[in-house]
Amino acid sequence: MKKSEADWAEERQEMVRLLAGFYRIHDERILRAMEEIPRHLFVPERFRLIADPYGDHPCPIGCGQTISQPYIVVYMTEKLNPQLGEKVLEIGTGSGYQAAVLAATGAEVYTIETVPELAEHARQVLKENGFDKVQVRCGDGYAGWPEAAPFDVIIGTCAPEAVPLVLVEQLAEGGRMMLPVGTGIQRLVILRRRGGVLTQEDDLPVRFVPMVHTKTV
Ligand code: SAH
Repeated sequence: MKKSEADWAEERQEMVRLLAGFYRIHDERILRAMEEIPRHLFVPERFRLIADPYGDHPCPIGCGQTISQPYIVVYMTEKLNPQLGEKVLEIGTGSGYQAAVLAATGAEVYTIETVPELAEHARQVLKENGFDKVQVRCGDGYAGWPEAAPFDVIIGTCAPEAVPLVLVEQLAEGGRMMLPVGTGIQRLVILRRRGGVLTQEDDLPVRFVPMVHTKTV
């Protein structure tokens, strides 16, 4: 059955109520962004009705990939706490939804996706929804984005076996980086660079798709 924009908006409000109530997310800025950004439009049309885009779980977007569960999107964004005008690098654009949530905080977002079809879809949907300043590159996240570095925030939404050194090198002073690390069992890892010193902390156990190595690298 087809849904109207009003139906989707109601589901979106329900999602935000769950994030604020059950999951105890307090950052109004991010909750408001998630209440406004039409997550369902980031899901390709052929999956939209069956995928339950506002449900409390990851959502399929094609090419064997998913948008993270809303809780994980808001959790990582809250921990990284991007500020107006800060530079953010995302590895693993997927649908573009996480990039949109980051951009809604007023940060300058650069995002890299290895699958051309997904990069193209994300570029399109971001543009159509007013996020045309987000820069989408089809390429290999292991290289980072040297021309735009350093970044105040780096977020990975696919899991390497170990923290890639190249990305650490692209983290600015005062910068925060969060990504899932490991094969099989993964953990979110947070790194911070303060006063030239790098600290690393383990966080939640998670399950993301692997950060793949492309053959050209
Ligand atoms: N953040 C996304 C979800 C990401 S799913 C969203 O909001 O929708 C993880 C994505 O990482 C997949 O699309 C996958 O193709 C991509 N990926 C995997 N390895 C990569 C790499 N080496 N470089 C860039 N992207 C990669």
